[in-house]
Amino acid sequence: MVDYRALRDPNAEYTMRDLSAETMGLSADRGDRDVEITDIQTAVVDGNYPWVLVRVYTDAGVVGTGESYWGGGTAEIIERMTPFLVGENPLDIDRLYEHLIQKMSGEGSIAGKVVSGISGIEIALHDIAGKLLDVPAYQLLGGKYRDEVRIYCDCHAGDEAEPASNAAEAERVVEELGYDALKFDLDVPSGHEVDRANRHMRGPSIGHKVEIVRAVCEAVGDRADVAFDCHWSYTGGSAKRLLAAVEDLDVWWIEDPIPPENHDVQKEVTQSTTTPVTVGENVYRTHGQRRLLEEQAVDIVAPDLPKVGGMRETQKIAHLADLYYIPVAMHNVGSPIATMAAAHLGATVPNALAVEFHSYQLGWWEDLVEEDDLIENGRMTVPERAGLGVTLDLDAVADHLVDGETPFDEA
Ligand SMILES: [Mg+2]
Repeated sequence: MVDYRALRDPNAEYTMRDLSAETMGLSADRGDRDVEITDIQTAVVDGNYPWVLVRVYTDAGVVGTGESYWGGGTAEIIERMTPFLVGENPLDIDRLYEHLIQKMSGEGSIAGKVVSGISGIEIALHDIAGKLLDVPAYQLLGGKYRDEVRIYCDCHAGDEAEPASNAAEAERVVEELGYDALKFDLDVPSGHEVDRANRHMRGPSIGHKVEIVRAVCEAVGDRADVAFDCHWSYTGGSAKRLLAAVEDLDVWWIEDPIPPENHDVQKEVTQSTTTPVTVGENVYRTHGQRRLLEEQAVDIVAPDLPKVGGMRETQKIAHLADLYYIPVAMHNVGSPIATMAAAHLGATVPNALAVEFHSYQLGWWEDLVEEDDLIENGRMTVPERAGLGVTLDLDAVADHLVDGETPFDEA
């Protein structure tokens, strides 16, 4: 195993890539707020995704918790970045974010796992700052538009999803779980596919998808908003046919009908239809979302907070979106930490539409934190407690660690 903390820093002698307090000549004299980061630890939890939890420790005894977007490699990247933060004041959130972006520029901080690693740290810094200043995280971001954010439930109707099974699950989630906003996968096999690779959708496949949309909208459309996710599956032409075919069915949105890389095609597809199109979970930082927003290539933008750059980057994206009157539906497949971070952010921007919840079939999601009933009737109340307002249950985290992972230290 490589000792990532000991890796040489190629930028060590190049101060233009270094925004540390020392290089910037910052005074350490801040009275009670003269606090230093002492360590950063990660633990990967075996949730419905391998969630990367992050803890930032300080010499004030205050520990902040964050979460990076799931997957392999991110914990190593955070380990790599830890020496750049030890000794820094955790209250300089914005500078430390830019410091890491700059320090890691040669290792890939324009997009990808480095940005997700930084995101988890940035969320934890908001938790620390809130605790040190005794205010909730939303207060650090400018205060509230709303006390609670709307949560939409990402639903699964089984591997052989058919119109009737989707409709039945929608009915159950609305009536038994209390949600008034749902999403289903629409990139399910129709039985009419000829070639999985070419992205072309034949008429019978489009017809099958329209029947799924119709069945769900007819089942719960009087009580819930319903969205459908295509996971980047189709050609521009096929996507346009699908979007046109569901125009009269009052869907909340259709998500990612085409691959995410080509914004020109995205713009053409989105602007071809009155069906709302949602895109955004695949691009990083405000720069990654900029053309989608400025060219109005999306109707709703879907940044993933622990992936895209963290709380302040997501707020920047929301503010840029608001200049184009575009709402934000935050993609989220995370633990209660990521979800609560998204809720705080959602409270602070006018154009927050909803936050995703992707773990309704995982019985122990909420066990990871000490608090209960985080989501009630499809809403998440933003707590008034300091920081994120949720406390990791370290025993529960230890119980659900990916094999080989080490539990967090207490403090
Ligand atoms: Mg999606």
